[in-house]
Amino acid sequence: MSEKPIVVVGSGLAGLTCAWAATTPVVLVTAGTLTEGAASMWAQGGIAAAVSPDDSTASHAEDTWRAGAFAGDRPVIDRITGEAPEIVQVLADLDVPFDRASDGSLDLALEGGHSRPRVAHAGDHSGATITASMAAAVLAAADIELRENHTVTKLLTDDSGAVSGVVVRRADGTEETIDTDRVVLATGGLGGLWPHTTNPRTALGQGVALAARAGARTDDLHLVQFHPTGLDVPRDPMPLLTEALRGAGAVLLADGERFTDELQPRDVVAAAVWEQLTHGFAVRLDARGIPDVTTRFPAVAELAAASGLDLANDLLPVRPALHYSMGGVTVDGRSRTSVTGLWAIGEVSRTGLHGANRLASNSLLEAVVTGRAAARDSSAWRTGWDVRLSATDRATVLPRGDAEPIPVQEVRDLLGASCGVLRDGPTLQAAVDALQPHTGDDVAYVAWLIARSALAHPHSVGAHRRTDSVEMQGARV
Ligand SMILES: Cc1cc2nc3c(=O)[nH]c(=O)nc-3n(C[C@H](O)[C@H](O)[C@H](O)COP(=O)(O)OP(=O)(O)OC[C@H]3O[C@@H](n4cnc5c(N)ncnc54)[C@H](O)[C@@H]3O)c2cc1C
Repeated sequence: MSEKPIVVVGSGLAGLTCAWAATTPVVLVTAGTLTEGAASMWAQGGIAAAVSPDDSTASHAEDTWRAGAFAGDRPVIDRITGEAPEIVQVLADLDVPFDRASDGSLDLALEGGHSRPRVAHAGDHSGATITASMAAAVLAAADIELRENHTVTKLLTDDSGAVSGVVVRRADGTEETIDTDRVVLATGGLGGLWPHTTNPRTALGQGVALAARAGARTDDLHLVQFHPTGLDVPRDPMPLLTEALRGAGAVLLADGERFTDELQPRDVVAAAVWEQLTHGFAVRLDARGIPDVTTRFPAVAELAAASGLDLANDLLPVRPALHYSMGGVTVDGRSRTSVTGLWAIGEVSRTGLHGANRLASNSLLEAVVTGRAAARDSSAWRTGWDVRLSATDRATVLPRGDAEPIPVQEVRDLLGASCGVLRDGPTLQAAVDALQPHTGDDVAYVAWLIARSALAHPHSVGAHRRTDSVEMQGARV
């Protein structure tokens, strides 16, 4: 057993779960204060789990597989959806106040792509409630040293390529090195790299940069999910109108007419919204028909009100916004990456659960399942690293440099233009060429990896829609 502490990077739901479940000492390093900058705190809908008597984990797995355009990894889907009921119980045992029916059973919401109501929730602020409960458990635990306002800027490796430490930058700009042979990346997603996003602006994919520069394999970085109903008001990030609104009966209108089945998987609905917008129609979400909508969705009502809109009486302007990264640092079932001593969990990881399009409310589930798996494996790890992952493409392993970074807004504009709802080869090639000279900078490096991945995948699948692909010839969007 290693004598050094496990270093967990990030304090969203994945990192907190891992720190809490570890059985050896942990240093929890996080860029802001505890849970600050975590998308986990922003989740509205909840956590998907087959807990009702008329549901089954097989049905949850089937819906996940189908929503992911049959591109997910079936054994992974079966395992993670299979653990979901137990995970909800683990959270309930941590006193997460899930909404319940009068008989005490969980009140389950319906969301797009699910064949039945399956989303356990705490009002429409489920992420904040679940994450706060896990944070309280972390603060109460022994053997967790918390380093707030510490940003990991580099992963150190030894001559054999194994993890040997991390470099952290403190709030005052000074740096220190933490010596460790076990690092768990829980740094979240990369939606902040797009001009229109629901993600925290700080979600710039830094975990992908750290891992890829250390030689870890990444996959599916081009597979990013656009949420169909970002509230289209001049706010950055865009407020999210949760899918649960459509599950409760809200409809989408283009110039007053319905144009799609609102409960299809997100990639399909986002593409349908995009098509209407590109034809010049104003797209709006109509939630006026939901009984007691403002009491059922108080957080959304507040978000709308902050932009002068009334959820109960107004039509809400919407547009697709970058929401979630299906790809990331490739891991096995224990959350091990291809680099010895490096685990990745939550949204920064690519587990194979989501395929080419994430099923709604499967990511909080993935955060807890992968966090717990990494905790168990890293706590027990001694030597050796028997992962069965394909080799990393060495052409993508580039060092961090001192070159003048490209402004983040420029990177966003490049990805917005090239890696939006619709993509094509020449635009992607131009983005790759524009980003290539700046790969010494982490933000540009991650954007380059994404555009490069999109360019290398000429076929359309799920959220990756190439207008120049055979699949899209003759298609409407
Ligand atoms: C608006 C919104 C609504 C959503 N709704 C749902 C939902 O209803 N259900 C669902 O399942 N999913 C939902 N999601 C997705 C889900 O919230 C995320 O996928 C999930 O919470 C990711 O958890 P995480 O722990 O991996 O990352 P995060 O919660 O994003 O946490 C990342 C942490 O890493 C830290 N960090 C990053 N880089 C560094 C660094 N270099 N050094 C130190 N610390 C670092 C950050 O500060 C943060 O603490 C939603 C997402 C958004 C944005």
